[in-house]
Amino acid sequence: MKEKILIIEDEKDIVKMLDYNLKKEGFRTLSVDDGGDALDLVNRERPELIILDLMLPGMDGLEVCKALKKEGKTASIPIIMLTAKSQEADKVVGLELGADDYVTKPFSPRELIARIKAVLRRVQEKDKLPEAAKIGELSIDFSRIAVTVKNKVVELTAKEFELLKALIRAKGRVLSRDYLLDNIWGFDHAEEIQTRTVDVHIRTLRKKLKSEARRIITVKNYGYRLDYEV
Ligand code: CA
Repeated sequence: MKEKILIIEDEKDIVKMLDYNLKKEGFRTLSVDDGGDALDLVNRERPELIILDLMLPGMDGLEVCKALKKEGKTASIPIIMLTAKSQEADKVVGLELGADDYVTKPFSPRELIARIKAVLRRVQEKDKLPEAAKIGELSIDFSRIAVTVKNKVVELTAKEFELLKALIRAKGRVLSRDYLLDNIWGFDHAEEIQTRTVDVHIRTLRKKLKSEARRIITVKNYGYRLDYEV
């Protein structure tokens, strides 16, 4: 099944043109013309990529981009912005907010599709996990789900292993508690008690990693990251 692409744009002709051309390429499409509605739709539909026009009624494109990149559940969905020539500054802000690419209007569908494919390729490449990793004295074999510290086997629970895997995959980037909850536990987490679940598992994971426990770094009031320095 081909990727699902969400078009956030209020100009009907552009939506129609994109919808037609993306479907012709085999993509599944969805569209919405309002920034506020777009956020709900993204949470419900989890598209693989978002085409976001910066000029939207109500909540503008930059606000939508900011909201999506802030939320653990949606932060990893790539965004391609549609900008007008007069929006040079906004384009830069959008990229700083975490948008992946942009296309300036007027554009050809071929150009946009090439950008979409390139962004999707990049994301999929990034998600690929190596067979194994060695960080200092810590070794992980992803296919065998085996972890050793100083050549001694460390018995981890499934959740602890998933946590460690997520941290390794992030390559030193900070992962928020929300992100970890969504991706490892997969539940909505309105209550504080659930956020603490992550902390509890990090604590047991650290205990088991012994001398390599120091690699898991707490980022206060936010989450965790892995230290790659030997
Ligand atoms: Ca527009």
